[in-house]
Formats: sequence, structure tokens, C-alpha cells
Amino acid sequence: MTLNKALTLAGSDTSGGAGIQADLKTFQEHGVYGMNALTSIVTMEPNGWNHNVTTIDVDVVEKQLETVLSVGIDAMKSGMLGTVDIIELGAKKITEHQIDKYVLDPVMVCKGEDELLLPENTDAMREVLLPVSLVTTPNLFEAWQLAQTSGPIKTIDDMKEAATKIYELGAKNVVIKGGRAIQHENAVDLFFDGKDFTLLESEKIDTTYNHGAGCTFAAAITANLANGQSVKDAVTNAKKFVSAAIKHGWRLNEYVGPVMHGA
Ligand code: PLP
Repeated sequence: MTLNKALTLAGSDTSGGAGIQADLKTFQEHGVYGMNALTSIVTMEPNGWNHNVTTIDVDVVEKQLETVLSVGIDAMKSGMLGTVDIIELGAKKITEHQIDKYVLDPVMVCKGEDELLLPENTDAMREVLLPVSLVTTPNLFEAWQLAQTSGPIKTIDDMKEAATKIYELGAKNVVIKGGRAIQHENAVDLFFDGKDFTLLESEKIDTTYNHGAGCTFAAAITANLANGQSVKDAVTNAKKFVSAAIKHGWRLNEYVGPVMHGA
């Protein structure tokens, strides 16, 4: 049996719903063999949903990347990256290994928060990772930070403006995850390939059990690319996958409600 292979360069979400756990589960659901290079470990306070991030030494990240890249991959994604050194390492490896199917999920915040986890990473992602990405998948806050628009993104027109700026920064395809936060009757994400804007609409699902939705969306795009789909098919099929996962989200405990992978 031959399986297509995908790499996630991302953080561990100890609660199992986001991060590399979401990525590997999503790869598996798409029949893609998943491998990972771990950048950071996220733990939560037992009495609440405060995050602590411990980053992995860049040399150890490099050894993981060398291990996986010596096996060979069909596509790659990144999520939480930890430090500027890790971001620069990622960009160097993508260039050296000519990885043309790289999905940048520019993780800057954990869901529901609007405070940058690691502010210094934003500039580095914009400068060295956007230009080597095939697809980037910011949420509204991340798109605002990457595009440096004048204020928060609230409407479809705001999304279009940010997507255009992010494209001009070097991303070949931009997916802005607006979801139900955008002013519209449906949940809306926007896909921009440099020529056309495509609205990806789905029913608004009134749930707080959506932890890991962003990671799952980007991982599904990566898996679809690894399986040979065009960028547009990879994105539209991933949108269907993540909508089903959100619809079947569940309450793990009083703080965490993860999406259900493979629902
Ligand atoms: N990566 C890691 C390791 C995380 O812990 C989180 C959030 O907790 C995320 C990424 C972002 O998750 P989401 O897909 O919910 O935005």
C-alpha cells in the first residue's frame, strides 16, 4: 500500500483537540500518513483555560525536520511555531527541499483570545514564511495582523482587502477564516487566488465547541494537496470537512470543547 505523506511543523495541544493532535487525526481521516516536527508544548491551568507555551530547542526541531524530510513528504503545514529561530528554520528547510505544497496556518492566538501569544513571531511569519507558502489560512485576527489593515476585520469587504494585501506579501493563495464572526447570514470564509474571490459559505453553527477548528481546516487542506487535489478543490473540500467537525463538536470538560475529527 502506498500512502501520501504529510508533515506538520506545529505545537502540541495537550488537550488533544488542536495543534499536532488535530493535524495528525485529520491526516489519518484523509488517508494520508502523518509525520510531525514538534515546536512547542501547550499546557493549560487546571482551574481554567489559561495557556502556557513551552518551546522546543531549535536544534531539536531541526533534527526532527531532517528525520521527516529524509523520509520524503507530499505536502507540509505549519501551525504554532514557538520562536523566530524556528520560523526561520522552517523557511530555510522549505526552500532547501523545494517543498511546493506548504500550508501556512499563521497561529498567533488560541481560540477566543485576542492577545498575541508570541508577538515577535508575526513579523517573521510575514517576512519569511508567507513568500514560500502555497496557501495561508489566517483567522480574522491573524489576517489583520499579517495584512496590517487599519482595524479589525468585520465584513466581507474587509476580508477582501486583507486577502489582497496578504497576496501582495507573497502568499499564492489566501483563505481567511471568517466563520460565524463575519457580518453575514452564513458562516463565511474567503478564498483568494490572486484573481478571483470565492466565498465559502456554510450554515452558522451556534457552538463554543470549536477548539481546533482552525488547525483542522488547514490540516485538511494539506491532506487534500498531498492527495493530489488542486488548491481550489483542496480548500473547498476542507471547508466541508471542518464544517462537519464543528457541527459534531463536543464538550470534553468545562473548559474545552473540541471539534470532532472525522465526523
Ligand atoms: N496550536 C496549538 C498547539 C494550540 O494549543 C492551539 C490552541 O489551543 C492552536 C494551535 C490554535 O487552535 P485553533 O485551531 O482552535 O485556533
